[in-house]
Amino acid sequence: MKIAVPTERAEGEPRVAASPDTVKKFLGLGAEVVVQSGAGTHSRFVDAAYEEAGAKIADGAEATLKDADLVLKVRRPEGEELGLFKNGAAVLALMDPYGHEEELKRVGEAGIVAFAMELMPRITRAQVMDVLSSQANLAGYRAVIDAAGAFDRAFPMMMTAAGTVPAARVFVMGAGVAGLQAIATARRLGAAVSATDVRPAAKEQVESLGGKFIAVEDEEFKAAETAGGYAKEMSKEYQAKQAELVASHIAKQDIVITTALIPGRPAPRLISKEMVASMKPGSVIIDLAVERGGNVEGAKPGETVEEGGVKIIGHLNVPGRISGSASSLYARNLFAFAETLIDKEAKALKINWEDELVKATALTRDGAVIHPNFAPKGG
Ligand code: NAD
Repeated sequence: MKIAVPTERAEGEPRVAASPDTVKKFLGLGAEVVVQSGAGTHSRFVDAAYEEAGAKIADGAEATLKDADLVLKVRRPEGEELGLFKNGAAVLALMDPYGHEEELKRVGEAGIVAFAMELMPRITRAQVMDVLSSQANLAGYRAVIDAAGAFDRAFPMMMTAAGTVPAARVFVMGAGVAGLQAIATARRLGAAVSATDVRPAAKEQVESLGGKFIAVEDEEFKAAETAGGYAKEMSKEYQAKQAELVASHIAKQDIVITTALIPGRPAPRLISKEMVASMKPGSVIIDLAVERGGNVEGAKPGETVEEGGVKIIGHLNVPGRISGSASSLYARNLFAFAETLIDKEAKALKINWEDELVKATALTRDGAVIHPNFAPKGG
C-alpha cells in the first residue's frame, strides 16, 4: 500500500497533509509513504525530517503520485494533477465541494475516490478527524494576533507612572470554534471582550470564557440551531433587530473579529458600511469569512482596506498563516480517518462503504459524483 504526499499546488497554500509524526504512524500500519521533495518546506518540515521518519522522498508530482493507493492532500486535486492519480486511488482533502460541482465531476471522471474532510460528521467518534475545528481554532487565534499587530494601541489595561492605557475592546461575531478561540486569545492578551452568535448555546460558552454576550434573545433565537449544531439562516426581521443592537455596540469597539458562517450558504452580512463609519479611526476589523463572501461590507479577499481610518483585513487562508501548527493538526486529522480505511492485517486500503463517516464524506467513486448533496440531480 503506497501513500503519497504531494506538494500543494494552489497559490498561497503553505500547508502539507502529512507530518513526520504521521508518516511514522502510517509506517506502523505497514504502508509505504512517499513525500514529494519540498512538500513540507513552508511548514518547516524538511525532506530530511520525513526521511528520518521513514518516508521516501520523490522528485516531482508524477513520481510521488505514481501507483499511490491513497493520496493525502490539503486542497482538491485539479487540472493536470488529476491525470497523475492511479485509477481507483483514494484522496483525502479539503474538497471545498459547495458550488464546485463541475470540479467534483472532473475528479470523479479521473477515476479518483475522493473524500471531503470538511464533511466529517461532528460526532464524538470523529472528533479527532474534525479538520474544520482544528483549522478554525488556529484561525481564531491568529485573527487576534493579526488584529493586535495592526492595532496601534495596547490590548491590556496598563497602569504606568505616565498614565493609564485602557484595555482594548474586542467584539467577536460568531462564537463557533474560531470565535471561541478568538475570545480566549483576546482575553489572555487582556482585552475587554464581547461576542454574539445566533445559536443560543453560544451564550453560555462565551460567558464561560469571560466574554459578554450580545444578542436579541427572542423566540426565533431560542430555536436557531440545527440538529447538527450549526447556525440556521435567520429571518429578515431577526437580522434587522440584531443589526440595530450590533450597530450601537460596534461604534464603541476597537477590534471586531467576524467568523460567521452557514454551511453551504454565502456568509451572512453582519457589518454595513455605516457601522464601519461609526467606528473610531485606528480600529481594526478582521473578516475571517472573507473567502465565503464576507461578513463585512467592503472587505476584500486577500487585502487590507482602510475606510475612515478603520482597517478592514481580509486575509485568505488564515490557518495557513500559522502553517506549522495547522499542518501538524491537519495531518493528525487525516491519519485518524485514514486509519479507519486501512485493513491492518492485509496492509491494504479497505473502504467500508456502510460506515457513516465514509457515507458522509465520500464524494466520488467509479467515475461519478456519488454524494447525495453534490451528485447531478434527476439523472
Ligand atoms: P461555523 O464555522 O459554521 O460558523 C461560525 C459561527 O458563526 C457559528 O457559531 C454560527 O452559529 C455563527 N453564525 C452564523 N450566522 C450568524 C449570524 N448571522 N450572526 C452571528 N453568528 C452567526 O461554526 P463552527 O465553528 O464550525 O461550529 C458550529 C457548531 O458546531 C458549534 O456549536 C460548535 O461548538 C459545534 N461543534 C461540535 C463539534 C463536535 O461535537 N464534535 C465539533 C466542532 C464544533
